[in-house]
Amino acid sequence: MNPYEVLGVDRSASAEDIKKAYRTAAMKNHPDRNPGDHQAEERFKKVARAYEVLSDPSRRGAYDRYGTTENPRASGGAGGMHDIFSGFGLDDALRAFMENFGFSAGGSGSRVVQGEDATVRVNLDLEEAALGGRREIEVERNVSCGECAGTGADKASGSESCRHCNGLGKISSIRNTLLGSFRTVNQCPVCRGRGSIPKKLCDNCRGRGFEKKKSTIVVDLPAGLSKGHYIRLRGQGHHPGQGGVPGDLKLLVNNIDYGPFTREEDDLVYPLTISYPQAVLGGEFTVPLPDGDSVNIKVSSGTRAGTRFKQKHHGMGRLNRRGRGDLLVEIDIHVPGKVKRSERELLRKLEESPSFIIKKKQ
Ligand SMILES: [Zn+2]
Ligand SMILES: [Zn+2]
Repeated sequence: MNPYEVLGVDRSASAEDIKKAYRTAAMKNHPDRNPGDHQAEERFKKVARAYEVLSDPSRRGAYDRYGTTENPRASGGAGGMHDIFSGFGLDDALRAFMENFGFSAGGSGSRVVQGEDATVRVNLDLEEAALGGRREIEVERNVSCGECAGTGADKASGSESCRHCNGLGKISSIRNTLLGSFRTVNQCPVCRGRGSIPKKLCDNCRGRGFEKKKSTIVVDLPAGLSKGHYIRLRGQGHHPGQGGVPGDLKLLVNNIDYGPFTREEDDLVYPLTISYPQAVLGGEFTVPLPDGDSVNIKVSSGTRAGTRFKQKHHGMGRLNRRGRGDLLVEIDIHVPGKVKRSERELLRKLEESPSFIIKKKQ
């Protein structure tokens, strides 16, 4: 099931069409209209999730390209692509519905504040890109303030009850929506649900609850990454402080150094230049492998320029799949620009020798 099918729209649908389809489907399947109907609830969750993906151009683009929004590491290793519909609850769906149709109370709902995503660009060498591997990454990001444990309050001065919510941390209100009115309980935007307000702000973070810190993290790179791919590390991004949760860390593949190889999808092409006599007579040649090793290959006699000799499973690892592409050794033939007089004589003789005369086609 893909999000386009869930909403019943085409892949080329406009943002407006998608919103319209979502609105219709969400209204029809809303739990308040279908009490106790578990299937309607599932459909409601699905359309909300599908809309969430398709209404965000970058996620829609990622889905179109990779078939998932979790590009490309997803659930790692053998699991394959992450199902975009998993891990999305009814609460998320209801909240999304309220927000999408303008019933949000200024973003101060009961949603836990999530920090921003952090992005780190990495350059990979061929072996890392081909085979994957473990990599240490330096990242500077906001972490929960060490002085105040993220509260933003000066520890020695204490705090006082929040007047906005009378210390309850919550505010209830009636919201009028397309489906009638319903009571919602939201986190207090002033004290962010804590019920109390610090008398003095933490000096270290000036009350924000987070501070900048450099750290080193270890990342397992899957085999087969390409330039422009990124790996999402959940909860490793910026911390928003004050009871929130960190965003994600995105590891973006900035560039890959393929050395003498060229990449063709999962295959690698290695150009091997041999001499003209070697092309005619054949021979054995040493060719480097992406892991730094090398292999001997046989070039058969009478090999033409452009011929490719295949070394199976010595190419790039296949991203999120098993196995590896191939290494293709492509033959080029060296033609000397200048020759000595004695060589010229040899070549003249060859030119007139029967095997070297190009036979005219009939
Ligand atoms: Zn602090
Ligand atoms: Zn409050």
